[in-house]
Amino acid sequence: MWSSSRYSEVEIYIYIYIYIYIIFLIFIFLVERSAYHLMEMEREDSKSREDLDSVPYSKKQKGIDIEGYPIEGLSIGGQETCIIFPSLKIAFDIGRCPQRAISQEFLFISHGHMDHIGGLPMYVATRGLYSMRPPTIIVPRAIKEHVEKLFEVHRAMDQSELKHNLIGLNVGEEFQLRKDLKVRAFKTYHVIPSQGYVVYSVRHKLKQEYIGLSGNEIKGLKLSGVEITYTVTFPEIAFTGDTMSDFIADPDNVDALRARILVMESTFVDNAMTVENARDYGHTHLSEIVNYADKFENKAILLIHFSARYQADEIQSAVSSLPPPLSGRVFALTEENWGDLPSSVDDSEDMVVYGVLRDAVSVGWILSHSEESPNSSSISSGSVFSDSTVVTVK
Ligand SMILES: [Zn+2]
Ligand SMILES: [Zn+2]
Repeated sequence: MWSSSRYSEVEIYIYIYIYIYIIFLIFIFLVERSAYHLMEMEREDSKSREDLDSVPYSKKQKGIDIEGYPIEGLSIGGQETCIIFPSLKIAFDIGRCPQRAISQEFLFISHGHMDHIGGLPMYVATRGLYSMRPPTIIVPRAIKEHVEKLFEVHRAMDQSELKHNLIGLNVGEEFQLRKDLKVRAFKTYHVIPSQGYVVYSVRHKLKQEYIGLSGNEIKGLKLSGVEITYTVTFPEIAFTGDTMSDFIADPDNVDALRARILVMESTFVDNAMTVENARDYGHTHLSEIVNYADKFENKAILLIHFSARYQADEIQSAVSSLPPPLSGRVFALTEENWGDLPSSVDDSEDMVVYGVLRDAVSVGWILSHSEESPNSSSISSGSVFSDSTVVTVK
């Protein structure tokens, strides 16, 4: 049969050998390039960390742990606010885009003041640079078009894609982050359009009447179209952004006041600044929080956005002397507990070396940005409420 071919058997073996050899060379090239990118990325990362070290308010301490949630970030009124829940991959406001925010997949923006939104293009660009999944960014509906224009301008300047998924939410509207997690915007009272966010856990539980049935019986009911579960939602985290204390009295905001953790602003803490001064700027004074004390059903309240006029110890002493029922469950985020943690190991699945290898398999040998859709349903598995272990990559 071979003799009828244009090629002899020996020639065919030679061609197969050459083909395998070329594949091998391409593979070696690919692995080397991936390693190179990883090294570059690590070099950039450590350089960024060094840069951060020179920033005066950057400290080495890790964040704080409240009610089973590690919390990181930093916040000074008028300068920079970014609050991170790494176990949920969520950041509230982006500030100037601290390094640690880049590995968060969901970003909620409370309003358009620069100390809350200034780092937004940097956040998206840096995730693109590392071939991380395009982030989902939720903004007040009133500023969505402005944010779109902002990205258009940056695309025109740096000719990058700046891939992201931008969602505009009105007060009262919800967005499903993933199967077990959703968010709702709530009204806040600031000097420009603003809103806070409540993040809810969503769990599906078996109805009482079906408890005790065998697996097969439950399966049979399910197949026959019977609704065998009910949904339990619970407000886990609320974040206010900048607001006057009026949000506390708003009856539509009860979920923010019964969230497990409430992160709220308290720009002023002493008598040198009055409640009226705070209201003039659309902010809250600590004394108002004391006056509303019985409204808060939260397990913990984390106060942020203190004015730069205060030293950390002044803030801590004001908060630690709060009377019951606030005493013991109100915390202050000051420079004592914000940190510049490096990326954690679970970020690595997003990062460039894996992106390169995946692209090689799916679309050829060209390095491209993430192929994945920004669809939030593709977010990593694992229970929201299991404590995530943060492991340092060096
Ligand atoms: Zn602010
Ligand atoms: Zn503001």
